Amino acid sequence: MEKQKKIEILQDVIRIESINGNEKAVALYLQKLLKDHGIESTLVDYAPDRSNLVATMKSGEGKVLAYSGHMDVVDPGDASLWKYPPFDAHIEGNKMYGRGTTDMKSGLVAQVLAMIEMKEQGIPFKGTLKLLATVGEEVGELGAEQLTTEGYMDDVDGLIIGEPTNYILMYTHMGSINYTLTSKGKEAHSSMPQLGINAINHLNVFITRVNEAMDKVAADYNDATLGRTIHNVTVISGGNQVNSIPALATLQGNIRSLPEFDNDKVIALLQKVVDELNLEKDYNLTLAIDFNKIPVKADKDSSLINTVQGVSEKHDKGRLQLVGAAGTTDAAEFTKAKKAFDFVVFGPGVSTLAHQMNEYVEIDNYLEMIEIYKDIAASYLK
Ligand SMILES: [Zn+2]
Repeated sequence: MEKQKKIEILQDVIRIESINGNEKAVALYLQKLLKDHGIESTLVDYAPDRSNLVATMKSGEGKVLAYSGHMDVVDPGDASLWKYPPFDAHIEGNKMYGRGTTDMKSGLVAQVLAMIEMKEQGIPFKGTLKLLATVGEEVGELGAEQLTTEGYMDDVDGLIIGEPTNYILMYTHMGSINYTLTSKGKEAHSSMPQLGINAINHLNVFITRVNEAMDKVAADYNDATLGRTIHNVTVISGGNQVNSIPALATLQGNIRSLPEFDNDKVIALLQKVVDELNLEKDYNLTLAIDFNKIPVKADKDSSLINTVQGVSEKHDKGRLQLVGAAGTTDAAEFTKAKKAFDFVVFGPGVSTLAHQMNEYVEIDNYLEMIEIYKDIAASYLK
């Protein structure tokens, strides 16, 4: 395919406004593009106007390599503050600006074009190359959860998520847990507090206890790559009148978890703090887990990562640094598949530009990743 055409395809996809939704329009565009090149794909509907896309190319028996990217983007905020309108896909020199250029439509489109060029150029491989384009990654990895539940990951041996890493490999990331704690008390006039139960005071004690408990976890467990467990109470509300004892108070917290002290252990610990307080007089606390994404840690020395390193050396990038990150990816859902698989996050763009104003991708980086993705597929599926 002509270089100019590859750039225009990315521009087309950036111009589809898939802000936390409308991924079906992206899926239909990619489906037509694949079909025009003789590759069949299936829409997996999540909700109206929201569909995942699964494409498969099979050539004999062998391993299954999956490429994956999400089709949703985050809100661009005040568009007038951007250097160029966020959905124009404006090009200046080597940079294409726009929401989703880095996170992560350049990675997704590079994966699609790698598949198409494998076919166009008749690059030989043995096994199956899959594309899993997902919905709702930014708000809870909804599409990855659905595809995993419906079995689309069950045959996968290797997974590459094309989130922006800019010639670095991410092989591990933290989990993420959101919780809500509700404290119930009893209303009374603030001049007669003995007649009421102060729900805010109980929340306050919970904060002290939970911080102590989580600080101890952070002290006891240290992952060489990811660091320590992170816990923060981030939202709080309670009471409704300054001269009334508050009958209700709630808070929310977020935890970034490690494989060494996983989500089940974190949640059990939160529950223990709550249960112990509820044994004390007048406490009525309830814990709800709102979001539960597990930490992910792949084998650094897997055949997939070694393949990627070999391809990188061939492209004169040397051996790539292997890192971990606090942020979660679709891998937190995909790794719940029945079968364990090798995995790495590797894609064009720079993660620090994600979710930022004036997000851009370097066009050279995008184009080179198409070549790299082709080489990885050819080499892994030998
Ligand atoms: Zn992303």
